[in-house]
Amino acid sequence: MSDTTVTKSHDVLVVGGGQAGLAIGYHLAQQGKDFTILEAASEPAAAWRERWDSLKLFTSARYDSLPGMEFPGDPDRYPTRDEVADYLIAYAREFDFPVELNSRVRAVRRQNGGYVVEVGDRAYEARQVVIATGPFQTPFVPQIAEDVGDDVVQMHSTAYRSPAALPQGRVLVVGGGNTGFQIAQELSDSRETHLAIGSRQTPLPQRILGRDLFWYLDATGLIRKTTESRIGRRMSGRDTLIGSTPRRLRKRHNVELHGRAISADGSTIRFEDETAVDVAGIVWATGFRVDHSWIDAPVFDGAGRVVHRRGVTEAPGLYFLGLSWQHTRGSALLGWVKDDAAYIAERVAAFRPKAASQPALATSN
Ligand SMILES: Cc1cc2nc3c(=O)[nH]c(=O)nc-3n(C[C@H](O)[C@H](O)[C@H](O)COP(=O)(O)OP(=O)(O)OC[C@H]3O[C@@H](n4cnc5c(N)ncnc54)[C@H](O)[C@@H]3O)c2cc1C
Repeated sequence: MSDTTVTKSHDVLVVGGGQAGLAIGYHLAQQGKDFTILEAASEPAAAWRERWDSLKLFTSARYDSLPGMEFPGDPDRYPTRDEVADYLIAYAREFDFPVELNSRVRAVRRQNGGYVVEVGDRAYEARQVVIATGPFQTPFVPQIAEDVGDDVVQMHSTAYRSPAALPQGRVLVVGGGNTGFQIAQELSDSRETHLAIGSRQTPLPQRILGRDLFWYLDATGLIRKTTESRIGRRMSGRDTLIGSTPRRLRKRHNVELHGRAISADGSTIRFEDETAVDVAGIVWATGFRVDHSWIDAPVFDGAGRVVHRRGVTEAPGLYFLGLSWQHTRGSALLGWVKDDAAYIAERVAAFRPKAASQPALATSN
């Protein structure tokens, strides 16, 4: 392949301007590095605005700050989606980070001992690149959705904004995580609502004896248990449901619960527990897949997962930040991403490029 013509050079390029990209930006600015954050959307932290209107954080404001700037307001409240987006935009402004908006990166490749990053019709080069494109990227919908009839309104949770998106009549939410529970509860105020729970998550109370759950996780050190510890490994294998329980949803909000949704035929959905229901609308709160196919570097395993140690890959100068359980439970959370950001920033500062005579790394194809 011929080399791409490069229009700009920087010490470091950060791909993604959400909380992870901004947190590493803070440290790079402190180091006086020449860097740029490339963000696909027209504003930083766009992923938050794309979530449903009534979303409330499960972490209280006390645990939602990035390095160097407190999350404003009562630390014990649970901020809304828009408050988070506003805070992150204010954060980028406060430190005057170089964020280039409307700049979706379509390729990252090794070239001349560094990296070329392609954005639309331009290309940048840098010795080091931090990929901070988020743990929740490509909406995943199970295949049975294809057998749902055209008269049923169906959407992934990323497309759901409010109950107005769904017709009146019986609705089904598929997915027993925090997203599925919050959306089912909201829908239950205006419609007969059903929830399919494929795998039960461990319910944890939002507050215990007047304190936020994350106070306990912080005070006991559990939030910082790493994937290398036995308890960290156990925790990473089990998702948690915060502030809700199946029982509460059924009793208080009248939501009818089912097992995993296993087949669809027109408007009829069947479940693992041998129940079935006819619905007018479905919200698939069935999670995400990560897509790093645009990164051409030998840092993925056979299943496409990033092979790394705390975000540092074997490809010199290529890092990831903000992955789920990158290092701890806190890695993909607002209040703790700063720990990994500080670590990656140290590695960036300590980086010494290989001598020019050494061969560049092989690429993955
Ligand atoms: C429904 C939901 C509720 C959550 N609630 C909480 C909570 O209460 N508390 C908490 O701490 N965490 C919560 N999280 C987890 C986490 O804080 C968020 O997912 C957060 O958005 C992750 O930040 P990020 O910067 O890693 O990724 P993102 O916010 O996804 O940001 C990644 C950015 O990269 C950009 N991008 C992607 N691809 C490219 C590309 N190729 N080129 C350029 N830019 C690109 C995107 O436009 C985006 O702006 C929640 C997550 C979800 C899904």
